[in-house]
Amino acid sequence: MSRRKDQERWEAMRRLDPDYKGFRGPANEPTRSRNAPLEPVTCSVCGRKRNVPRGIAQEQGDTYVCSACSAERESGASDSQTTERD
Ligand SMILES: [Zn+2]
Repeated sequence: MSRRKDQERWEAMRRLDPDYKGFRGPANEPTRSRNAPLEPVTCSVCGRKRNVPRGIAQEQGDTYVCSACSAERESGASDSQTTERD
């Protein structure tokens, strides 16, 4: 196998991107990008699972209300577009 080539390639990548950590970067490294890690949280109103940023998931937990439900609340929840029944 061409280990040497991999090494060269890695060096090249690293030169281009100083943050590049190779293919075996720490798995638990916080994301540098804008993609926040998402966690499924159940909406307390409609009961559907929504993927929300982890911070919100931890902060709101069981009281989480998804954006669709909160928008509905704000617009006067009387006529619901969903067919849910409780
Ligand atoms: Zn909801």
